[in-house]
Amino acid sequence: MKFEVTILGSSSATPVYNRNPSAQLLNCNEKFYLIDCGEGTQQQLIRFGFKASKIDVIFISHLHGDHYFGLIGLLSTMHLNGRIKPIHIYGPPALMEILELQFKYSETIIKYPLEFTPISADVPKVIFENSDLSVSTIILNHRIPCTGFTFTEKKRLRKVVIEKLEAENVPLEYYPLLKRGVDLTLPDGRTLLNLDYTVDSDRPRKYAYCSDTLCDGSYFEEIKDCDTLYHEATFLHELLERANQTHHTTALQAAETAIKTGAQKLLIGHFSSRYKTLQPLLEEAVQVFENTQLATEGSTFSI
Ligand SMILES: [Zn+2]
Ligand SMILES: [Zn+2]
Repeated sequence: MKFEVTILGSSSATPVYNRNPSAQLLNCNEKFYLIDCGEGTQQQLIRFGFKASKIDVIFISHLHGDHYFGLIGLLSTMHLNGRIKPIHIYGPPALMEILELQFKYSETIIKYPLEFTPISADVPKVIFENSDLSVSTIILNHRIPCTGFTFTEKKRLRKVVIEKLEAENVPLEYYPLLKRGVDLTLPDGRTLLNLDYTVDSDRPRKYAYCSDTLCDGSYFEEIKDCDTLYHEATFLHELLERANQTHHTTALQAAETAIKTGAQKLLIGHFSSRYKTLQPLLEEAVQVFENTQLATEGSTFSI
């Protein structure tokens, strides 16, 4: 199953040349989920060849503009393009009020259902589930209420060992039962034990999106054992004091977080506009956690 994330924006606070505010597009089994929607997200979708009409679910971490100023534009375009299927938005409770005000004064009555689910930044919980994926909140420590999100694959069916089944001439119609873990009794009386003909499916993969936060460890339990961890790294560690004041994280702290929580791979982003080149941030993180990459615009990472 495809499980990958494309970075649409990696900048904190303001756009800079070639860097947009936060937005990521998650593709899970060819279903598309937008995570945050900074200004310019529509242009980034076009630039990297994605259709906005394919997005059905949007998660917004918090109400600082660099994480949602692109949302009203995106929703308006969906309306103008004749969308009729629902869009589901998960975000801070006040987000709906903001959107309604914008629609009210532009006298826009959107043609598609907008289904909004307010999310609380008090306790982590499961906010979304379908047959592919389960999404939970991460309670982050920022200047205003802020949640990250974990995206965890659902457990897959068992895998059949085709060579063994072919050797026994087991008809194809029995394969779905075997995938569900059932022992078989065939019409000729033979009994096949499931464990002899199937193997367990791959371990479900987990992606965590940690947007703006003070790196205080309070949320580490929720992001434990990620296959891929995205963590903000707004500053170099020489600006730790600034990071603490503004409730942000340094590249070094993001790397330490990856180690402490057992991540396999770390993506860093949300870079301060003061950095013209991102190499120093990468180097700082790599010294602590080798498997670190920059979450820059247009990069796609398999989870
Ligand atoms: Zn931000
Ligand atoms: Zn913020």
